[in-house]
Amino acid sequence: MKKDMLDILCCPTCKGDLKVDIKKEENDEIIEGYFTCKKCNTKYPVEDGIPNLLPK
Ligand SMILES: [Zn+2]
Repeated sequence: MKKDMLDILCCPTCKGDLKVDIKKEENDEIIEGYFTCKKCNTKYPVEDGIPNLLPK
């Protein structure tokens, strides 16, 4: 996913802001890493460039 998408993403559980930790990136795309919600601390993985933002 593009890094720009971060601006429009929010936590699906509480709608809080997400911070991202990037493990692997290519040409402004996040390939692997995870999001952490600043509000409720839930973590969401990014695998193969696809963010998994499903509430647990
Ligand atoms: Zn949250």
